[in-house]
Amino acid sequence: MLIIADSPAVTQRLRTLTRQNDTLFQPAPQQFGSSMSNAPAAAFDLLIRGGAVIDPAAGPPITADVAVANGRIAAVGPALTGGAREVVDARGAYVVPGLVDFHVHVYWGATVWGLEADKIGAAGGTTSFLDTGSAGAITLPGLRRYVIEPSRTRIRALVHVCTAGLVTNLGELLDPRYVDVEGTVRAIETSRGAAVGVKIRYSDTTVGEGDQARAALAAAVEAAERSGTWLMVHVGLTPEPIADVLARLRPGDVLTHCYTPLNGGPVDTHALELSPAAVEARAGGVLFDIGHGKSSFGWDTARAALDAGFPPDFISSDLHRGCVHGPAYDLPTVMTKFWRLGMALPDIVERCTIAPARKLGLDAGTLRVGAEADIAVLAVEEGPVTLEDCLGEELAWDRRLRATHTYRRGERLDPDQLGASEELPVALSSRPMGWSRRPAQSSR
Ligand SMILES: [Zn+2]
Repeated sequence: MLIIADSPAVTQRLRTLTRQNDTLFQPAPQQFGSSMSNAPAAAFDLLIRGGAVIDPAAGPPITADVAVANGRIAAVGPALTGGAREVVDARGAYVVPGLVDFHVHVYWGATVWGLEADKIGAAGGTTSFLDTGSAGAITLPGLRRYVIEPSRTRIRALVHVCTAGLVTNLGELLDPRYVDVEGTVRAIETSRGAAVGVKIRYSDTTVGEGDQARAALAAAVEAAERSGTWLMVHVGLTPEPIADVLARLRPGDVLTHCYTPLNGGPVDTHALELSPAAVEARAGGVLFDIGHGKSSFGWDTARAALDAGFPPDFISSDLHRGCVHGPAYDLPTVMTKFWRLGMALPDIVERCTIAPARKLGLDAGTLRVGAEADIAVLAVEEGPVTLEDCLGEELAWDRRLRATHTYRRGERLDPDQLGASEELPVALSSRPMGWSRRPAQSSR
């Protein structure tokens, strides 16, 4: 039920809240137009009533109202009074900070992978994104001007060490001339605030094998080092043993696709055992991201890692054109899969909100009073539901999470208003890989 009242959001209550939180909460000056003077006063712009609020940065879940004024969280508590211009009845739903998806591809129209950030944000409760290497040094200015700056969602980027980024899926570093340390460092230095690190896809299909592959990873590490940032390494069909890959990462670097069902990830796909090197790397400060995507999440590998006491640091979708219609769909669906595997919902929400927000240095991922009002309402859709992994293996369940309302700075991101994406002329799935899938090399 959605109730929209027509009164302006200006009251004494708001000004009281403003004083109480004056270091955090700086509303813009209000205009008291005469045409509004007879309207009943409303304390807030938006009031989300009676949901189960999960804000891991603030503490355990509570049933509460969440109030928004001037684009910021004005209050969180039971039975808030004062009214609002827009009231959302969230009873029976979860109210969480706007999700922070730590691995997506949102360079629409310039890469074969790209989706439109605001559209997938609206549909998936996601208000912040990390684009993981869609752009390289040559194409980063376009990502900034045409995607990051005009989007309502908040976007940060990793710069691919391939100078052209991820335009095609033909194997971006099979030709090693595309490796560009200097350009990557310069691109990050001239895009501070937008570019936060370096990306490489470390598969035999993307970097080749042997010395060529190892040199590409070394270049990516060097670019992160010289730019004073961190590196995200994608694994799966990995051209050297996972222990050797992890040994080359530094504290703060991120390994993505950590539960990949392809060879060369932290979980051995035959023995279904977690590599001791992953435990060692985590102790040394390496971080582990899910990056579900089209081929990087498997039930068996996920269970093996969770059973070994090795949960991910970040739960992300790796949404791109090849997985948005399944098997990833959206971040709430990926969250549902971890719920199905037995992880507690607050632990899941933490890995999609405050954990990535902290890593990215974002003022996001929490509903604390004064924060920008990025909010997702996640309804529990009752099943039966079928959840599939990237190998097509299905698990049945009785529920799934679905985003019903997404707010960025207190403004609704409405999927109906944003509309469907224009179909691109090139289908991702029809493109050849251009490289044979050989087993990972064990020699160095
Ligand atoms: Zn990806």
